[in-house]
Amino acid sequence: MENKRVEMRLLNDEERKTTFKEVSLGYNHKEMLEEASRCLNCKNPLCVSGCPVGVNIPKFISYLKEDKVDEAYKEIIKQNSLPGICGRVCPQEKQCEGKCIRSLKGESVAIGRLERYASDNNNVIINNKITPNGKKIAIVGSGPAGLSCAAEAIKLGFDVTIYEALHASGGVLTYGIPEFRLPKEIVKKEIDDLIKLGVKIKNDYIVGRTILVSDLIKENDAIFIGSGAGVPRFMGIPGENLNGVMSANEFLTRTNLMKGYLDSYDTPLKKAKKVVVVGGGNVAMDASRCAKRIGADVTLVYRRSKEEMPARLEEIRHAEEEGISFCTLTNPIHINGNDGKIVSVTCQKMALGEPDESGRRSFIPIPDAYVTLDCDVLIMAIGNYPNPIIKDTTSLFSFSNKALIIVDENQKTTCDNVYAGGDIVTGAATVISAMGAGKKAAQSIYKALFNK
Ligand code: FAD
Ligand code: SF4
Repeated sequence: MENKRVEMRLLNDEERKTTFKEVSLGYNHKEMLEEASRCLNCKNPLCVSGCPVGVNIPKFISYLKEDKVDEAYKEIIKQNSLPGICGRVCPQEKQCEGKCIRSLKGESVAIGRLERYASDNNNVIINNKITPNGKKIAIVGSGPAGLSCAAEAIKLGFDVTIYEALHASGGVLTYGIPEFRLPKEIVKKEIDDLIKLGVKIKNDYIVGRTILVSDLIKENDAIFIGSGAGVPRFMGIPGENLNGVMSANEFLTRTNLMKGYLDSYDTPLKKAKKVVVVGGGNVAMDASRCAKRIGADVTLVYRRSKEEMPARLEEIRHAEEEGISFCTLTNPIHINGNDGKIVSVTCQKMALGEPDESGRRSFIPIPDAYVTLDCDVLIMAIGNYPNPIIKDTTSLFSFSNKALIIVDENQKTTCDNVYAGGDIVTGAATVISAMGAGKKAAQSIYKALFNK
């Protein structure tokens, strides 16, 4: 059998550069059947060991092979409450697909694309026949960690309420990842499915301000904190406070959540002609590709080489196809302004050294080698850390020196009945690792409260 996966069709080049329509178009029926037939239905399926939420991958693909799409979807949602999202944004190449036996001699089965097909093309109606267990859980944050905890907790019979700081639910799925990678109607549909199961969401609730963690503990049998790592890092170089310098978080929130690029929306977004984005991860790719769609010439500046970039290969390829210029081995050292506004950024050229503790080759400044790039907007996409609100308003459990919540192997904090997971525990990571942690926390809470 051919050991190459079925390619996925993409939106045409012109529309990709000028609209926010989804770029990857998914499989059609014939493509799905062809790709599903590549699965060997292994007796010891290594792919499952690479899935943090434990989806029975060969089983759902077997249903697809028999064209039983509803059965495939039902099999997936036994373990994964957000399959349409995961099928689109999970780094499958490092997870289930990275372990697939087929990848030893060719290309792995395209598990994510098949998961997406089952999610987009089923007729399953979610029903809420769940027996209540009499206990209440409060969840802080409606990102993937909080949503996955809520999904598992409601199935276990808990009364579940999510407290979310923003007016919209979904965390990074809603305000961070752009529409052309993850349409917001998919996020909304999967959150609505949880609401149909009985999950309650209270928006505009900042835990630590609107309500305290100690109040939630008093009012509930257990709580789960999935508040993410939403505060952006800056480089600490001169000129960062000039008008036109902003974090990727701010730029993506104005673009994705507030639709600031449309004249009909109130939130302003500067219509820049030349944008420099600093960073080499998924966030930097997303910010660059958004800026391109808003009409700017975009240069991405990264201090190591392309091989060291942490972004998914697919995202790097899509950014290049869409005309983003990559300026690698280059690091900003000074942002230059005129009349309070940014006009350019001066960068130092770098050479690669030996691998550092991250396993990637390090970067070494080349003396007297500088380049200056003109720009009217500069977007910093160099990482995030947790918002300190919860840390500053509770002393009931412990934090690391990086302001991350410390948990044990069951996601339990140092306080009884308080659990945590996702980016607030690990630092910036992935959707599926946050989901795995949320799900595990719900199971641990159940075991602790019912002595199971
Ligand atoms: P979040 O998604 O950050 O959700 C936390 C939620 O808690 C937010 O809604 C926030 O408003 C809320 N909150 C915070 N504080 C409070 C409070 N005090 N009270 C109430 N609510 C609060 N990962 C991938 O796997 N694939 C990708 O392609 C990918 N792309 C990304 C692109 C961008 C632009 C970004 C920023 C991240 C990306 N990631 C990606 C990483 C991934 O999105 C995160 O690891 C994941 O969202 C973490 O989930 P979480 O639930 O822990 O936190
Ligand atoms: Fe199918 Fe690959 Fe999993 Fe084997 S490892 S069951 S071939 S997806």
